Amino acid sequence: MSRPIVLYPDPRLLLKSKPVTQFNDELKQLASEMTETMRDANGVGLAAIQVGEAIRMMVMDERYDLEDKGESLVLCNPVVLNEEGKETIEEGCLSIPDVREEIERSFKVKVKGQDVQGREKVYEFEGLLARCILHEIDHMNGQLFIQKVSAVKRIFLKKQLDELKRNFKQAARL
Ligand code: ZN
Repeated sequence: MSRPIVLYPDPRLLLKSKPVTQFNDELKQLASEMTETMRDANGVGLAAIQVGEAIRMMVMDERYDLEDKGESLVLCNPVVLNEEGKETIEEGCLSIPDVREEIERSFKVKVKGQDVQGREKVYEFEGLLARCILHEIDHMNGQLFIQKVSAVKRIFLKKQLDELKRNFKQAARL
């Protein structure tokens, strides 16, 4: 079952998510709902807070560019061990529709975390997948990619964000 995505400027997006401690059936169910939600929205990754759960879990499609995506990667309590290189490319967020901005991030990351069963894992990613992991970890800390935009660009961005704020208020009235 796909779940509604929490949209900017919903204040839940500013919450700091808590560590995952219970690796039970409920967590597996949430992971599978997050995967479905991410795929329905054509995203590469999704953090739990984007479906309203303030826990440090994310899903990511390592084979995002293939039709047969297989199982999504589920990563709980991720911690960055190492980052290398820099790359600036356009980035978006399923919680901030239609906004895309050039953001500088590390090109390579090494990250440790736990899978949905609680088993410790270490992963290395580069390019878009490294960017995705860092983007989702930011979500777990209540941070959004638009906060990384330079001050000059933020003036242009403000218009788009104001529009999203207006839409949010209208939707909230229903
Ligand atoms: Zn996002």
